[in-house]
Amino acid sequence: MSQVGTVVSVFIDSPGLFLDKPFDYSVQSELAQSVEVGQRVFVSFGHQFKSGVIWQVHHKVAIGEKVKPILDLVDDQPVLTPEQCSLASWLCERYACTMYDAITAILPGAFRVKGDIVIQPVQTALVPDDITATPLWGSIARDKPTERALFAQFGKSARAQVAAWEKAGYLRRRLIVKEEVQAFEVSWLVRQRPAQELQAAAEVRRKRASKQARLLEALARAEEIEWKRSEFSRDTVEALVREGWLIEQVRPKSRLKWAKQKVAAPPELTESQARALAHIREQLDAGTARTVILHGVTGSGKTEVYIRSIEDVLARGLSAIVLVPEIALTPQMVGRFYARFGERIAVLHSALTLGERRDEWGRILRGEASIVIGARSAVFAPVQNLGLLIVDEEHEPSYKQEEAPHYDARDVALERASSFGALTVFGSATPSLQALYLAEHGQARMVTLPIRVNQRPLPAVEIIDMRDELRAGNKSLFSDRLADEIEKTIALGQQVILFLNRRGFASSMLCRACGEGMHCPHCDISLTVHRDAHGMRLVCHYCGYEEQSPVECPACGERALRSFGIGTEQIEQSLKETWPQLRALRMDVDTTRKKGSLKHIVEQFEQRQADVLIGTQMIAKGLDFPHVRLVGVMAADTMLEVPDYRANERTFQLLTQVAGRAGRAETDGVTIIQTYRPDHFAVLAAARHDFPSFYREERMQREVFSYPPFCEMAVFLATHSDEVLSRGAAARFERELRRASLPDGTVVLPASPSGIRRIEDKYRYQVVLKYQRWEDVRDIVDPAFRLVKQRMNEYGGACRLDVNAQRI
Ligand code: ADP
Ligand code: ZN
Repeated sequence: MSQVGTVVSVFIDSPGLFLDKPFDYSVQSELAQSVEVGQRVFVSFGHQFKSGVIWQVHHKVAIGEKVKPILDLVDDQPVLTPEQCSLASWLCERYACTMYDAITAILPGAFRVKGDIVIQPVQTALVPDDITATPLWGSIARDKPTERALFAQFGKSARAQVAAWEKAGYLRRRLIVKEEVQAFEVSWLVRQRPAQELQAAAEVRRKRASKQARLLEALARAEEIEWKRSEFSRDTVEALVREGWLIEQVRPKSRLKWAKQKVAAPPELTESQARALAHIREQLDAGTARTVILHGVTGSGKTEVYIRSIEDVLARGLSAIVLVPEIALTPQMVGRFYARFGERIAVLHSALTLGERRDEWGRILRGEASIVIGARSAVFAPVQNLGLLIVDEEHEPSYKQEEAPHYDARDVALERASSFGALTVFGSATPSLQALYLAEHGQARMVTLPIRVNQRPLPAVEIIDMRDELRAGNKSLFSDRLADEIEKTIALGQQVILFLNRRGFASSMLCRACGEGMHCPHCDISLTVHRDAHGMRLVCHYCGYEEQSPVECPACGERALRSFGIGTEQIEQSLKETWPQLRALRMDVDTTRKKGSLKHIVEQFEQRQADVLIGTQMIAKGLDFPHVRLVGVMAADTMLEVPDYRANERTFQLLTQVAGRAGRAETDGVTIIQTYRPDHFAVLAAARHDFPSFYREERMQREVFSYPPFCEMAVFLATHSDEVLSRGAAARFERELRRASLPDGTVVLPASPSGIRRIEDKYRYQVVLKYQRWEDVRDIVDPAFRLVKQRMNEYGGACRLDVNAQRI
């Protein structure tokens, strides 16, 4: 006979396709009123205890015989808002991912609960004497021990006894969650009476107590202010608290210390900033989901426009999310926001500890922080009343996540904007073709900042043909022009940035006698040459394999090994040899692995403790160094060589962004681009700051060859240590697609080895699919993917599907 009660459907915290559906659990009557969608629960699943998230709640339904009760609630409050729950469902549909992947993306690290199950008596009075007399019961009643401790003491047989007593209703298990505690607090002054009354009271005090008058006025304007960051003394505050005008509220504070900046006075907007802001306001007033593309040249002051738009949004009682390509690269950005908004900002990125992240989440959920700044995953922040989403450096590839669920933060931003009726701002000096396509089709509005804040021209860019340098007998890495400008810049007391998109000493090592290259034994890729105190090392950038560089060619035995393709380490060395007195810093993946090292390099360069900064694309992402006069691009070709349909776009963006680091404050900037392909349109357009001509040419090529934004691509990838199985899986996926009736215009490219056929001894085969709209092909592609993936998992391999892939 079945009972009637409350049942919840729960997504279990466990990957695996067969778990990708909710499981039903009953809820004990004393907990039935507390369960909510989005809350975490603890349940037994098979022979394990697992946490999960409640997806649906059904009250007053028949509870089947086999339905197990939940063990406990993890939180009093849901960890996912209803909007985030629908966002998770949307992610599953948009990216063909599992709910596990979707929830893990939204709640990184928090899906999983750390805790102990303790066993407690329910009502000792009702328990028969023969039970209370046993040592096992005694221990439970006395200590409320954790399950682990209890079984350690009484052995496995206690398990059955506990289960029986639990069934009889004498015992229950409870989950004790281990969470980190809030460590810091901060005081806010909060208005207690209407603004008009405060204004009147301020008027009365103007002469006799001017400080009190100022505080009353501030609160009439702002409702609440952060005490520490204001000018008001304890006496002033306490006098007004006694009279009931305001109260002091102590709130938990972020344990993150971003900057100790004082509140900065807002600068006066330039004419074009004011115009851009007016456009954005107009769109905000519309109150429905809108998209603005803020196309502002480098140094045009986009950040100030973001800040003013956010002030506007806050005044409307709404909140904002600001995405930056990589938070570690933008301590400057956080510093600027902190200087204006103080503790009202929360910062989210992947390098936070779980405790730090929980603090920030808590502050966002409670509404104490209404501006969230962060990298890609901050797009999922649990904000309510979202009014504005800003995606800074919109063109950056890091907004696309390479692992499941393969989401694109720009897509997610638009989706969230549409459920909140919010405004999305995509800001960039080099908007992506995707963004421009939106504008062309009336789905976004272009707003431009055509000139730099300091009124200076964009840096003059010179292209140097490195073939001429060779012909003239210059074998150095520095062309004569670049060498001259380095010396001139240093003589002027200014700074230099040297950019090269390749780390290491050299990209490969070859035998000049027999032509044999040094390859990774586990990957189909050349080993990169690195140089340190112990000499040359060969390193695989894909699997981490390392060896000492051989003296003789392992194939022919001649001493004829030579390195090819310069990297950042070589520039550093060559710079030191040519100008021993120069102080140089290098910023690439190798010098920034340690936590805080990147920030340290940025600060050293900011404080002019170095003359030259050598770096990879890390230095192109929105850093603002006012004393840089010269930017040298060591080899524009390294970016063009990448086998990717977006290589031209990426080259144009990187060159424009890097050039834009020059001449940002008091001097004009100079940029020198060294290249073997001086006629390439992406190089020429970047040198001439000619965005429209680049866009026209690139757009045409994409259309002709049918690449995004003229279609969307999904890339299926199978990996297995057995090449036959990997190829077989890709071939099967391809056949499944071809058998189905895909809409006209959909293209399935034949299964083939991916760009690098083998990584870490696993063979990689792919299938590329081009289509117009995902929703038209999803019902064919998703089941085919699940079918092949399931089988591949059984064989110990893996499959992934990257929907809306940004590269092949
Ligand atoms: P972008 O992101 O467009 O390259 P930034 O936002 O970094 O430009 O601004 C460039 C510099 O100009 C920054 O140092 C910033 O503080 C300064 N700035 C921005 N707006 C103004 C303004 N209205 N008046 C004076 N300085 C400004
Ligand atoms: Zn390798």
